[in-house]
Amino acid sequence: MKTIVSYSLLLFFLSFFSTGCSEDKPEGTIFDPSDIKRNQFDLWLLDHYVNNYNIDLKYRIEDMEIDQSYNLVPATMDNSIKLAKLIKHLWLESYDEIAGIDFMRTYVPKVIHLIGSPAINAEQQTEVLGTAEGGLMVTLYKVNELNLNSIDSLNYYYFKTMHHEFAHILHQTKNYPKDFDKISTSDYSPSGWMNRKEEEALQMGFVSPYASSEPQEDFVEVIAIYLTHSNAYWEELLEKAGTEGSTIIQKKFTIVRNWLRTSWNIDIDKLRSTVERRSKEIQNLDYSLDQ
Ligand SMILES: [Zn+2]
Repeated sequence: MKTIVSYSLLLFFLSFFSTGCSEDKPEGTIFDPSDIKRNQFDLWLLDHYVNNYNIDLKYRIEDMEIDQSYNLVPATMDNSIKLAKLIKHLWLESYDEIAGIDFMRTYVPKVIHLIGSPAINAEQQTEVLGTAEGGLMVTLYKVNELNLNSIDSLNYYYFKTMHHEFAHILHQTKNYPKDFDKISTSDYSPSGWMNRKEEEALQMGFVSPYASSEPQEDFVEVIAIYLTHSNAYWEELLEKAGTEGSTIIQKKFTIVRNWLRTSWNIDIDKLRSTVERRSKEIQNLDYSLDQ
């Protein structure tokens, strides 16, 4: 099964996802890097992505892999290089640091596809922020609007998507406790979540409106939102959720935290601190292809 999905945004800046995420499990290598005419960036990618992580980072638009219903433009080389460096520093190496060197090399999506423009669906008045095909490929849009000066926008447009999709891979590999699904059973709404506002979702015990679409989205949204925000933000989120909502969110978070520790030997607080520390380092990263 291959379902294109994902993070969508109403054009009027309401958080919004178009469909559910795919249930496919990760597979082995599906690309052959041997027959590409390589430029300097390709050689850097070969070294740092293919050889290190077995990831094919595609920055040219390849017709076979994009949704033809959108009018898309390619990512610029310059921004693709920057984002490749950021993904490595903020995402891949954060997990390397906390979960050990083999972890990402085993579970990471095998293809990351960068697109320059947003994907606007004029009919639905939605904008897709990212898509995932099973555990195999993640597509990030709006790469040409990359803003190195705003970690919030980097998280919003790219890294929350990466953590979200990666968390799907993890729970598809090792199930999380079924108790999680029972906490909000009667409140999930696969289509009605779109009409829920942020605050309303919080008060119902969901970390985002999309989290209220179905249990697995709820589970990975807890992880993605926790990892891409500071403790102050999380505390504020709990406050907005009120007594009832915050009790539910904390119950969910406890299951998430225990599952990451027992199934993956990952301390989510250490991982978040690492992501936070690395987020501060991005201003001083070397964005050249020299290293
Ligand atoms: Zn999802």
